[in-house]
Amino acid sequence: MRIAIDVDEVLTDSNSKLIAFHNEKYGSNLTYEKFNTFDLNKTLGGDIVQKESEFLNSDYVNEIIPLEGSIKSVEILNKNNELFILTSRRDGWQERTNQWLEKYFGEVFEEIIFSKVLNISKGNICLDKKFDLLIEDSPTFSFDAAELGIKVLLLNKPWNQNIFHENIFRCKNWEEIINKIEELK
Ligand SMILES: [Mg+2]
Repeated sequence: MRIAIDVDEVLTDSNSKLIAFHNEKYGSNLTYEKFNTFDLNKTLGGDIVQKESEFLNSDYVNEIIPLEGSIKSVEILNKNNELFILTSRRDGWQERTNQWLEKYFGEVFEEIIFSKVLNISKGNICLDKKFDLLIEDSPTFSFDAAELGIKVLLLNKPWNQNIFHENIFRCKNWEEIINKIEELK
């Protein structure tokens, strides 16, 4: 299968670092559990582009590490599938993202695609690239792709609790993702 994998909150726990950065710099009291919406305008408020850029240039970014089980799972999936990265990280994140992926995952990905930089929705990229599966945590991207007929493995998160679709399969962790992919083969 051709599988597209999201980066933030799927391969990494970057939100926890973003929250720590925001709490320190802006004196907020955000917690991961209360980060119940994917919309940063609502959770962080203020100038999101500015805040993301400050985060990108802070030491917190260097503390972003792979999510539990993700390295091993990517290794397993790489044996019988073609793997792609499909991220909505903004312009300015490309080089750092490429380096981070190579550092932790090696050169296992066929292509690293930045949907926001291309200005094409993740769902449409899945169609164009003939991806069979998308592994994602965003409720919006998951629903859009599911509507276009793409099967989505949705990693369960506080901010995606209200999303349901016949093409969306909710998974608790990477172990469940691997099991579900076996089932869908
Ligand atoms: Mg994500």
